[in-house]
Amino acid sequence: MQLEKIEHIGIAVKDLEKSNELFEKLFGTRHYKVEEVASEGVKTSFFKVGPNKIELLEPTKDDGPIGKFLAKKGEGIHHIAFAVEDITAEITRLKEEGFIVLNEEPKKGADNKLVAFLHPKTANGVLIELCQEVPD
Ligand code: ZN
Repeated sequence: MQLEKIEHIGIAVKDLEKSNELFEKLFGTRHYKVEEVASEGVKTSFFKVGPNKIELLEPTKDDGPIGKFLAKKGEGIHHIAFAVEDITAEITRLKEEGFIVLNEEPKKGADNKLVAFLHPKTANGVLIELCQEVPD
C-alpha cells in the first residue's frame, strides 16, 4: 500500500478572480473549473498543467481552514495532495505509522474526490491531503 502520485498542489489565495488571471498568464492555459465547498469555507479553481493539477483556494469565511491559514501565513502553498486507491485503508495505515489524521472519516472534497488530511505537525510542517477519485 502506498501513495500513488501527486494529485494536485493547493495554493491559498486572497482573491480567486485575480489569481485565476495571474496563473492563466503563468501556465498559458485557463482554469477548467470553479467549485465552492461550503462546508470548508472555500472557493476553488483548478488548472491542468501538462499531467499536473493545481488548485487555487480562496476563503469564503475568515474562520474556515483557508481563512485561518491566510491570516497566519499569508498566500502560498497550502497543501500537497496525493492520489490513493483506497482512502480508508490509507487512513488506517498512516495512523498506525503515527501520523495524525484530521479526518477519521473521509469527506467529500472538490472535484469529485473523497479526501482526508494529515496534520502538518506530523509531516514536517506539510499539510498532506489524501484523495480518492469517486465516480460522478
Ligand atoms: Zn486539495
